[in-house]
Amino acid sequence: MKDIKSFNLKELKTEMESLGEKSFRAAQIYKWLHVKLVSDFDSMTDLSEKLRERLKNEYYITNVTELEVQVSKEDGTRKYLFELPDGNTVESVLMKYHHGNSVCISSQVGCRMGCRFCASTIGGVVRSLEPSEMLEQIYKITKDINERVSNVVIMGMGEPLDNFDNVTKFIELISDENGLNISQRNLTLSTCGLVPEIKKLADLHFGITLAISLHAGTDEKRKALMPIANKYSLNELIDACSYYFDKTGRRLTFEYSLIQGENDTEEDARKVASLAKRVSAHVNLIPVNPVTETGFKSSVPDRVNGFKDILEKNGVNSTVRREMGRDIDGACGQLRKRRLV
Ligand code: SAH
Repeated sequence: MKDIKSFNLKELKTEMESLGEKSFRAAQIYKWLHVKLVSDFDSMTDLSEKLRERLKNEYYITNVTELEVQVSKEDGTRKYLFELPDGNTVESVLMKYHHGNSVCISSQVGCRMGCRFCASTIGGVVRSLEPSEMLEQIYKITKDINERVSNVVIMGMGEPLDNFDNVTKFIELISDENGLNISQRNLTLSTCGLVPEIKKLADLHFGITLAISLHAGTDEKRKALMPIANKYSLNELIDACSYYFDKTGRRLTFEYSLIQGENDTEEDARKVASLAKRVSAHVNLIPVNPVTETGFKSSVPDRVNGFKDILEKNGVNSTVRREMGRDIDGACGQLRKRRLV
């Protein structure tokens, strides 16, 4: 049995041809799956019953099941707990902004990167998600709110570049004009910094925004927070960023979680400014969100503003991220594989 929702239109045409069907059937099926968002073959009413039976024998339609939705009292952010076909669960978050609906999706069940401040990596990785399972998070939310999702950020649970092929396929499918057609300009992929994969991604020439989880201005401090820093130095990371910028013309974002006593000094700010300047990156400051197991505290507001001032004085644009959904543990670094009991 094959996962029909993970095929692009071209592949689906080849599939239909191999079944001896007319290739226009592929466009009909693709539309049912990716525009009308149906969950079973019997809803595809312009296909003959015979063809539907045939499809059922060869393919399955991946669906995720909504187990729980938590709504933030502070800002209306909605956090969804979805069950995947094999019983694993992931979380996704819907944020309503004045410019549209933004969904943060998970790309793996768990994560193997081990960043010390992040809840998603506690307990390691279970498996990577299929393209269809990433699409489904958006499809189910679209149906739930009955409104268009205009922005997607791949910043939920998991390291997207550790699931390279499926994530890039997902990007292709979600931005396909024959599907939901979410513009690549409105897609952001966040990575802790897998250098070879950043270069591979650049070579695909997508128009997406790449966000790099920086979190420190020196290798020494970065190693203390993020195991990946033992594998790739900041120099190698910045080189990869500059390769990405050259190839795609897309400006990068650096994400920087401010943690009290770890990475929030004036010296840290100057170091970050010089790294950001090398690739004209925008810096997104995130006062670190509480995760019970880590014990890290957020920098005080004065520190956050002081940090921002130093960046600005050094000619680097920055914003302090407005954290959404903290009261439902739906903010950055708070997503998990399962419910906390
Ligand atoms: N694995 C990817 C995407 C998931 S994390 C990555 O590392 O980029 C999304 C963002 O939230 C990353 O920048 C991550 O470093 C940050 N983050 C993780 N834990 C956090 C926390 N407790 N508070 C604030 N941001 C956090």
